[in-house]
Amino acid sequence: MNAQSHKKEEVIQHFQSNLENGLNENQVTENREKYGINKLKEAKKKTSFQKFLEQFKDVMIIILLIAAFISFIVAFSEGDNAAFFEPILILLIVVLNAVMGVIQENKAEKAMDALIQMSSPHARVIRNGKEEMIEAKDLVVGDIMILQDGDYVPADGRLLEASRLKVEESPLTGESVPVEKDADAIVNDEAPLGDRINMVYSGCSVTYGSAKAVVTATGMNTEMGKIAGLLESAEETKTPLQMKLAQLGKYLGVLALIVCLIIFIMGIIDGMEILDIFMTSVSLAVSAIPEGLPVIVTVVLSIGVGRMAKRKAIVKKLPAVETLGSTSVICSDKTGTLTQNKMTLMQVYSDQSKELKQVKDIEEGPELNVIELGVLCSDGNVEIENGEEKHLGDPTETCIVLAAMKKGHSKKDLNTTYPRLYELPFDSDRKLMSTVNNINGKTYVIVKGAFDQLISRCIEGDVDKANDIMLQMSENAMRVIGVAMKEVDFDHITNKDSATLESDLTFVGLLGMIDPPREEVKDAVALCKKAGIRPVMITGDHVVTAKAIAKDLGIFNEGDLAVTGAELQAMSDQEFEDKIKKISVYARVSPEDKIRVVRTWQKMDKIVAMTGDGVNDAPALKAADIGCAMGITGTDVAKGAADLTLMDDNFNTIIEAVREGRGIYNNIRKTVGFLLGTNIGEVIVVFLSMLFWKQTPLLSMQLLWTNLVTDSLPAIALGMEPIESDVMDEKPRPKDEGIFARGLGVQVILQGVMFGCLALFAFRYGWQTTNDIEAGRTMAFMVLVLSQIIHSFNMRSHKSIFKMGFFKNKALVKAVFVSLLLIAFVLFVPPVTYIFGLEALPMHMYVAGLILSLIPVVALEI
Ligand code: ATP
Repeated sequence: MNAQSHKKEEVIQHFQSNLENGLNENQVTENREKYGINKLKEAKKKTSFQKFLEQFKDVMIIILLIAAFISFIVAFSEGDNAAFFEPILILLIVVLNAVMGVIQENKAEKAMDALIQMSSPHARVIRNGKEEMIEAKDLVVGDIMILQDGDYVPADGRLLEASRLKVEESPLTGESVPVEKDADAIVNDEAPLGDRINMVYSGCSVTYGSAKAVVTATGMNTEMGKIAGLLESAEETKTPLQMKLAQLGKYLGVLALIVCLIIFIMGIIDGMEILDIFMTSVSLAVSAIPEGLPVIVTVVLSIGVGRMAKRKAIVKKLPAVETLGSTSVICSDKTGTLTQNKMTLMQVYSDQSKELKQVKDIEEGPELNVIELGVLCSDGNVEIENGEEKHLGDPTETCIVLAAMKKGHSKKDLNTTYPRLYELPFDSDRKLMSTVNNINGKTYVIVKGAFDQLISRCIEGDVDKANDIMLQMSENAMRVIGVAMKEVDFDHITNKDSATLESDLTFVGLLGMIDPPREEVKDAVALCKKAGIRPVMITGDHVVTAKAIAKDLGIFNEGDLAVTGAELQAMSDQEFEDKIKKISVYARVSPEDKIRVVRTWQKMDKIVAMTGDGVNDAPALKAADIGCAMGITGTDVAKGAADLTLMDDNFNTIIEAVREGRGIYNNIRKTVGFLLGTNIGEVIVVFLSMLFWKQTPLLSMQLLWTNLVTDSLPAIALGMEPIESDVMDEKPRPKDEGIFARGLGVQVILQGVMFGCLALFAFRYGWQTTNDIEAGRTMAFMVLVLSQIIHSFNMRSHKSIFKMGFFKNKALVKAVFVSLLLIAFVLFVPPVTYIFGLEALPMHMYVAGLILSLIPVVALEI
């Protein structure tokens, strides 16, 4: 059936659905079987085997394998059994390394999958006569879906009711101007998608109004499904750090190749066996080039993402984790983020009685009338279920409904007595909402909204007195909602828009409600300041109310400024730049103002986090370095535009996420420092030994075993280090700070030199005392790997390991244990020792090796 060319009644009948009750359980099951689930097919994931093969894509690994193959052929042609060990062992090590790579990759993928799962879209439907929230994938053909501004349309549907509905259909039509919809229209069969104004399509976003629609197609049968074909699995984005590291890897790679070439040439001049020296140089290159770094960083980042999710901060893309750590300004919404969004109606003022009364003291009379008009002009509702209050919708409205209910006037009764004929929904640009109701046979427009917006549209009422009362309420941190009305001849109004309906009003009264600050936010604000991050409040509320709350939370201090959106618009860019550092509160701002705030802070080289929930916030969320969407009150569109979703809408969670972000960045520095330090050490020992004694102190398989096997475990474990308690004592990391800043570069080089010299010393000592080069290699190998592994404890922090506690990082303890076993396996299991070109040593030499390996720790502790 072509739903657009049929009347809505026919469509709903065709799908055997019902506008009031929706489908029942049986129909849902039936339709799911008949039409399938509401999910686009996903592109096939890479299998572990494919990932395994990809580990061999690296040029250096390929060269290494070719070298191993050649040495295998040589061993074969010479019939030398012992010579087989090396190539076979190299192959084994490379395979082992690839397997570990796949395990890590799978781990990272799992973490990301879990995240995608967490932020999966939802849909509001009517089923069994009740409204419920279900996962979008569970939607079936025939379901009645409810749409609201900010929602992504979850499936294709024929509109049944639409109130000023506008839908942005650019994903399907490319047209970014939202289309106005009309549930009563009939469109011919051939009309292009963009003209089908009685339909809504999956994947498009509702930018205005609300609607009900019956689902006509789901999953791959939707228009989106037809063009999408296959949904690509989440695209991979490289973080700036990963890109920098990849770049660094390339530089180091070239450097390592040059060193290897020099070593190779030196070896040839000294008359060494070509194959031997070739194997050593290639192995050194494979070991020294940190091509695995970006992958390890991905793993560490994705571990961090998992940790953030536990703290209710859902990161959508990996780069956000990194940026979070350098956040220097946080612009936060007030309602719900800094406050509890649990409004309570406290005071009511009536223009008729000119009296301001506490809600608890109101019985009958003009004040109650103000409350009732507020209820009529609200969509929010309160239901009592099993003796418990259930608030549905906007707390600004539910608190009015609740107050009326407590006075014995339920919303249901009021709506029946004074039925609603029309509505103009609330939006944060107008900051008003209006309904047209039939009151005792006459039609009235009731308008409620922000005081300043409302009062300028009133032509009757005591404006000065109202203004005084409003200020008085606001100073007590109350949100003030004004109520006004006028009689209209509704049937004869052609333009049922804001200009016509929301003008020439009679002022009726004021509603003052309190929204207490969140308990934990005061501490979070203090922590934020200590960490050198500037908290800023951005709100649609009145400036006086906003300032009162900001003061209470510690965001607004003596000497700070609070500006309104209007004041902001009057400022020139230069003026704003001069003042921005003093402004702690922005009130009555529009979503456009938010973008200006973000951009101006960014001009001052700040990394800005910005919160948002509405459709209109999406551009500001995108403009911010870290867009934070509200998980509870946020719209799908805001979540889609954000980098981070706060599952609990809490300011505290942003601070937690920043803390995690800083911790993760520090951990990555530790991992990178550790790996590069060890690589430099290896290059140094091989290079110097070739230079001084024309001998390689480490054979290819020993180098590979160290690098590809024993070092990588502690490196990743360092990335899982618990966050240090003092990360929030530092100032935010500057935007362009390199990874080796704050002394890490020097530290890495010094460590490399230390590892290199120790191993060189060990090599010479072992070789000279026994006059046996194998003993020298065994000493060099032992000292190199042991010193590195022990040193991994040092890398955990700049603080003493005794202060840090040895066992705080359980992953590292486990990793070191496994690495030590692997080393022991090579050193103490005779056939293995032999195959690796090592040998058993007298006891005192092992002791000497152990003492040498402990030197770096002792040196650093001192
Ligand atoms: P914040 O930006 O701090 O989160 P907010 O999102 O609640 O605050 P808006 O929703 O834009 O801000 O509301 C701005 C103003 O609009 C409020 O101060 C209030 O005066 C008015 N307002 C809010 N909700 C409603 C509503 N449902 N009906 C009428 N007016 C409203």
